[in-house]
Amino acid sequence: MRVAVVGSGPSGIYAADALVSQEDVPVEVDIIDRLPVPFGLVRYGVAPDHVSIRSVRDTLNKVLAKPGVRFLGNITIGQDVTTAELLDCYDAVVLTYGASSDRQLGIPGEDLDGSVAATDFVAWYCGHPDADRERFERLIPTATSAVVVGVGNVAVDVTRVLAKTVGELDSTDMPQHVLDTFGRSGITDVYLLGRRGPAQATFTTKELKELGELVEADVLVSEEDATLDEGSAAKAEAERAIGRNVAVIQEWAQRTPEGKPRRIHVRFLSRPIELTGDGRVSTVIVERTRLTPEGGVEGTGDTEEISADLVVRSVGYRGTPLEDLPFDERANVIPHVDGRVQRDGVSLPGVYVAGWIKRGPTGIIGTNKKDAVATVESLLADAASGSLPTPGNSGGLEVLLAERGVRIVPTLGWNAIDGAEQALGATRGRDRTTIHDREDLLAAAQAI
Ligand code: NAP
Repeated sequence: MRVAVVGSGPSGIYAADALVSQEDVPVEVDIIDRLPVPFGLVRYGVAPDHVSIRSVRDTLNKVLAKPGVRFLGNITIGQDVTTAELLDCYDAVVLTYGASSDRQLGIPGEDLDGSVAATDFVAWYCGHPDADRERFERLIPTATSAVVVGVGNVAVDVTRVLAKTVGELDSTDMPQHVLDTFGRSGITDVYLLGRRGPAQATFTTKELKELGELVEADVLVSEEDATLDEGSAAKAEAERAIGRNVAVIQEWAQRTPEGKPRRIHVRFLSRPIELTGDGRVSTVIVERTRLTPEGGVEGTGDTEEISADLVVRSVGYRGTPLEDLPFDERANVIPHVDGRVQRDGVSLPGVYVAGWIKRGPTGIIGTNKKDAVATVESLLADAASGSLPTPGNSGGLEVLLAERGVRIVPTLGWNAIDGAEQALGATRGRDRTTIHDREDLLAAAQAI
């Protein structure tokens, strides 16, 4: 059986691993990615200073080296090959292409210069080939005050990276131009805004705590923001993870600032209602909110203005459709039952889904393992019952792409890029430095 996995982030690689690790049916898996490099958000989402989380890539890399698994990078489905052509080359296709787009706030002024999506900012500092370098190299050195909207782990990552000194980031694999840009940052104040309270925030305690341990940044929380209403206090009492988050926030509220040159202002029950500025954002108008009995928020009408020349909205990732395949426009996921893709309530034979494009942008990296394994179980059950379609294109994907002049990056090409990144890092006393330019990646892949 030949299976294509579309997307080489954790869910795709875990799916491939589950396929080749079983012994009932021999399987060959091609893991296809639009980028010349694998690992999706492990490479382009996990913050570079989170070295131990990023080391998951070593585990994922071992799967790429397993017999029966091939990486095929630099192939864009819908551009280099249609979805129908892809389906015709394999017995089954597992879609694991994630949720790479951003969600909007839907407030006036959101499109002003200086207002950016966390997805774009994170992609830039991780060295994504499609990142808008010019934009961030212009914005960061000219900003003095930043507002980060949202209190999930991505917002915490963004806040921490903005508040760290370049010395704290220097040992990471960030591209040199990113480190140089942070070295020219004039940002002294970062505001982290949660529209609900500390007990409703989605960050995790380990990540949250790091904000209070930075070399040159004080963390500031008001007593008022750290005080819980009755319902939230009961929630913090009942759920240990929430209780731990609240304890960190309450400890911060007791701290006396040390007078460090940078400050992280953590605000709860605060939501932006408008960004204003002459071309570039200069002010965020923030409304005080209160919790509703249903767990939502409503505005109180009390507003304040925060001066900010950088606004990063970190309010979640969003999945996008793939041409000719069903899509749930409301939930931004591909509809499925047990990982089997559904069109109008009927399973599409041989088409499966796993990871964020299946369940939405939630959970930690490990969540994708269970998720991918469950989808592979459905696929294998369908193979055993003979319900997979027969591929019509016996020549296979590579022949089709060779005819079209697509420069596929195979596993060996990726290994060459991997070696080149380690060599580049070594020239600067680091473990590795990310190569950010697509042409440079393709050139490194050629040097097999
Ligand atoms: P998230 O945890 O869903 O956080 C989104 C945040 O945006 C929430 O605070 C949400 O508030 C807020 N929000 C949504 N719409 C808003 C609006 N219109 N106005 C103001 N605030 C709004 O998502 P994420 O931070 O993007 O993270 C995605 C996933 O990756 C999560 O599972 C996360 O844990 C994971 N992740 C993990 C790590 C790590 O383990 N180190 C690092 C990064 C990401 P409400 O709750 O009020 O909607």
